[in-house]
Amino acid sequence: MSTTTFTATIVTGHYSFAEIHRLTGSDHQLLRSTQFYQLNDVICSFGSSVIHDHPSKYTVQIAEDKHIILNPEFLQYINHSCNPNVFFNTTTMELIALKAIEPGEEFTFFYPSTEWFMAEPFHCLCGETNCIGIIKGAKEINIDTLSQYRLTDFIQSKIDQLKD
Ligand SMILES: [Zn+2]
Repeated sequence: MSTTTFTATIVTGHYSFAEIHRLTGSDHQLLRSTQFYQLNDVICSFGSSVIHDHPSKYTVQIAEDKHIILNPEFLQYINHSCNPNVFFNTTTMELIALKAIEPGEEFTFFYPSTEWFMAEPFHCLCGETNCIGIIKGAKEINIDTLSQYRLTDFIQSKIDQLKD
């Protein structure tokens, strides 16, 4: 069971199964579940409002040179964790629970599970015991680390190409 950190937040958006929270005195936003989920539950389907050919902080990669702005848009507030509880399946276009999730828990995903290359790697502050430190695209993370995570079919195909 992961621990939920109840840092002071302000609710800035309320949706059918989630709320956007903003940390007080900060512009950091996050998405918290308002529902219970079990392993492999489909939390929602998603699509794209816009497809870009380059990644940004708010896009999810679905294919080579295809980076979507998520629809519903509030899914963009799902932050990275090295011990994630959701997965963006970009083949079925479904957000999947990777473990049981309770109301109040922050939704998190492993950025390299969808991103092959990241223009802006960053120092992870997830605080998990398995934190990998610097978060980069899957291209720059070693295979043993990646193999501990569920990866999109696109990322898996890129890894398989490297092996050939
Ligand atoms: Zn981390």
